Amino acid sequence: MPELNPFKIAQKQLDTAAATLGLDEPTHQLLRWPQRELLVTLPVRMDDGSIRIFHGYRVQYNGARGPTKGGLRWHPDETIDTVRALSAWMTWKTAVVDLPLGGGKGGVTCNPKELSTGEKERLARAYIRAVGRFLSETQDVPAPDVYTTPEIMAWMMDEYETVTGHHAPGVITGKPIPLGGSAGRGDATARGGIYVTREAAKKLGVDLTGKAMAVQGFGNAGQFAALLGSEILGLKVVAASDSQGGVYNAKGMDPKALVDHKQKTGSLSGFPGAESISNEKLLELDVTVLFPAALENMITDKNADRIRAKIICELANGPTTPEADAVLWKNKVFVIPDFLANAGGVTVSYFEQVQNAYNYYWNLELVYGRLDEKMTKGFADVYAMHERHTVNMREAAYLVSVSRVAEACKLRGWV
Ligand code: NAD
Repeated sequence: MPELNPFKIAQKQLDTAAATLGLDEPTHQLLRWPQRELLVTLPVRMDDGSIRIFHGYRVQYNGARGPTKGGLRWHPDETIDTVRALSAWMTWKTAVVDLPLGGGKGGVTCNPKELSTGEKERLARAYIRAVGRFLSETQDVPAPDVYTTPEIMAWMMDEYETVTGHHAPGVITGKPIPLGGSAGRGDATARGGIYVTREAAKKLGVDLTGKAMAVQGFGNAGQFAALLGSEILGLKVVAASDSQGGVYNAKGMDPKALVDHKQKTGSLSGFPGAESISNEKLLELDVTVLFPAALENMITDKNADRIRAKIICELANGPTTPEADAVLWKNKVFVIPDFLANAGGVTVSYFEQVQNAYNYYWNLELVYGRLDEKMTKGFADVYAMHERHTVNMREAAYLVSVSRVAEACKLRGWV
């Protein structure tokens, strides 16, 4: 039975990198585990007057290179192991694009679709009252992730400032722009993914103009991937899906119309001129670029052999299992691994922190230019490692990141 616990997968990926790098045992063991984990129990008053108990998490995985940083997920399937895995990936992600930050992650087990706006606000504030003393601009900085929004970040920042009694916009990123958010944060994850897809295509000698792309998971990352894939790379969107299923049209679909349709109707189904397609079939389409932008474990040993995309740009965290990775490598599918492909979000979050610290704000052009620089350099470092060790891009990204984090731990005298 293949391993599907995301934290065990993250540890396994680290073990492989540690062996290739010849990492000493104390450093390897230190990097296998989070430095700090918080489990919190949150009583929240519901609209009907009752009190419901929610379970929340914050994991600070490794802070050797700087304050830990990472998003907050609100999801019914959220567990401590998902949060641990995501916090480990954040550590490798900040290191791969060379940000002066560590990695962290948090979440609450809940179904936000069943919560009213008032209930969400009370949950956000309760979370901050529980973990706020372990957060600060110089300690640990949360951000949005699955089912959390700039609105939720604003409530959290407000609660933090109310409790501490001073302005601290840099304590959380992904805020609305009037409260200190950065221009360009909204589409940053997808934009970063588009920049590295452009770099991959250059290395592979593939002209992307007019070629087919498919997007699994039509949320924040997925919608912008469709819009920017078409705008920046000239790709044609032939398929897109969300948790309720997908739509397909071999001739291509207008990404803007797809986004409007999803916003108006709440789903993709019924998009004019398209036929419906299952999430499973979407992954197996004959496209040039596939963007998994939903959740973990979508490409497994069960379907990896049927994947026909040339390039997979993993906007989601952990969409491919290690068993599937081996199959894709054998079949010469070029995978841009999650923590490189989706590093654009944390990079612009980092820019947001820098601007909050300066209390002076950049325009879009500056943000895009600096994001492109960071992503292009990150891709080049990983590609060089991939060539040097003849390993797949994921292993190469681990080699780059783990060696950077290990070096920081050693320089501090921890190991
Ligand atoms: P989101 O909540 O906006 O979107 C998620 C989308 O996936 C939704 O449309 C949902 O319907 C869809 N989905 C859920 N289950 C599905 C399934 N089984 N098949 C197909 N679609 C499914 O979340 P997001 O912010 O876009 O994040 C998506 C992924 O990208 C996550 O793995 C997240 O960790 C990762 N990511 C996001 C950011 C960011 O800045 N938003 C940054 C880095 C990584």
